[in-house]
Amino acid sequence: MFCPQCGREYSQKVNFCCHCGAAMFAPARLNNKKLTLSRRDKKIAGVCGGFAEYLELDPTLVRLLWVALAFFGGWGIIAYLVAWIVMPLGPEIGEVRATASAPTAQPATNH
Ligand SMILES: [Zn+2]
Repeated sequence: MFCPQCGREYSQKVNFCCHCGAAMFAPARLNNKKLTLSRRDKKIAGVCGGFAEYLELDPTLVRLLWVALAFFGGWGIIAYLVAWIVMPLGPEIGEVRATASAPTAQPATNH
């Protein structure tokens, strides 16, 4: 890949050009957007959060609509379960947190 700003070549995927600092990732966020279960915004399984992220809507609004549909004939519940099964999990966030902050400090017992 090449830096769009200064033309420097990179053999591996980088997010920012080391030379000029330009953003290397294309504005393709919308293109590879996937409907996934939301890890960030979940009440039950993250289905509503996932839909909200995909449709760029307020997750609360999606949740309200979904609950409303669940009351009208109850197919919202079935749709939720189906979506839960079918939708893959979204990308992992906050994975680094587990390893970064391990409380290792022990009270000194010398003497
Ligand atoms: Zn550059």
